[in-house]
Amino acid sequence: MPAFKAPNRILMGPGPSNIAPRVLEALSEPVIGHLDPEFSQLMERVKHLLRQTFLTENSLTMPVSAPGSAGMETCFVNLIEPSDKVLVCINGVFGGRMLENIERIGAEAVVLEQPWGEAVDPERVRKLLREHSQICALAFVHAETSTGALSDAQTLAGIAREYGAITIVDCVTSLAGVPLRTDDWGLDAVYSGTQKCLSCVPGISPVTFGPRALERLQRRTTKVPSWFLDLNLVMQYWDGGDGARTYHHTAPVNALYALHEALVQLHEEGLERSWARHRHHHGALRSGLEALGFEFAVSDASARLPQLNAVRVPPGIEEAQVRSRLLSEFSLEIGPGLGPWAGEVWRIGLMGTSCTAESVLTFLSAYGEISGAGDAGVRSAGEYYETAEGAD
Ligand SMILES: *Cc1c(COP(=O)(O)O)cnc(C)c1O
Repeated sequence: MPAFKAPNRILMGPGPSNIAPRVLEALSEPVIGHLDPEFSQLMERVKHLLRQTFLTENSLTMPVSAPGSAGMETCFVNLIEPSDKVLVCINGVFGGRMLENIERIGAEAVVLEQPWGEAVDPERVRKLLREHSQICALAFVHAETSTGALSDAQTLAGIAREYGAITIVDCVTSLAGVPLRTDDWGLDAVYSGTQKCLSCVPGISPVTFGPRALERLQRRTTKVPSWFLDLNLVMQYWDGGDGARTYHHTAPVNALYALHEALVQLHEEGLERSWARHRHHHGALRSGLEALGFEFAVSDASARLPQLNAVRVPPGIEEAQVRSRLLSEFSLEIGPGLGPWAGEVWRIGLMGTSCTAESVLTFLSAYGEISGAGDAGVRSAGEYYETAEGAD
């Protein structure tokens, strides 16, 4: 059997995104023990860099050894007990998964359901918090990757606090792509993923718990129903300083080298510059897409995610066939629509390392060629780059 050789793709879907060569190189450093003092130092550095990325002082800030879904589950199993009532906002796929988590714990869910493509409505959240007493947590998705909608996490967290509820916030796609200020906004439990705007290998989920979340964890009356995700146990490994760590599970050692390198790279650029870069290239892509006749699926322009552009496939375009030609002829991946948007919407990602002028122009020119629409998109994006305030 020959060794597996992965093709070089331009990853412009909903994640994973492209990874910088230096991050891939970090992966191939020698394996060392997960209790090696050198590894212990790396763990401290990763926690420090994650705090800088989440913009938090939270001591409990660490990477869960499993993908974003496990970060979601970590928040729910540690913070919600069967006797609790949780308000969960569903405006796409990932809010629905939050509801799944609440139901599996056996807690009561109050559901705020909104049409796909809308941001979570703070006034409807306030109304439900007013109507239902004893809601202990508000759960919502900051950046809904299934629809491209951005919700106002700061306002939502402020409302939750007025009613004494903690916030559980999905920031898998938002982290490093749009402003996210955990402490300033008062977010209590936040989880993310490594393969979206952090541009690292998939399979790790950074999480951070603030003081109010920690207090709930400490006041639990029932055992955390997941052994692997029980933070009381996980922290005996992640929280112990050098020499004080005890084995819980074997950390994904090399993936954490890669995460360290990806975070170092992010902070060399600067978090705010990374946010600005995502906005900048989104502006060029939008200009090109609109010149080609595309419409954004999120109608409110201020609620559109720069890193995930959901657009309606124009009439007469064979969506699956065009996507498959983009992959086979241009080695370029974009994402299909999910659920009610399957067959109707494309999700064009500009995440992390994939967020460049080259990605934008390659997609627009490839689409122009395949669809016969020509170079109107490339020209319009080119003009944008010439005239807009540059980010790079
Ligand atoms: C990708 C994603 C997840 C799940 O992350 P995995 O790493 O695929 O488990 C959760 N929430 C949102 C908003 C996502 O985009």
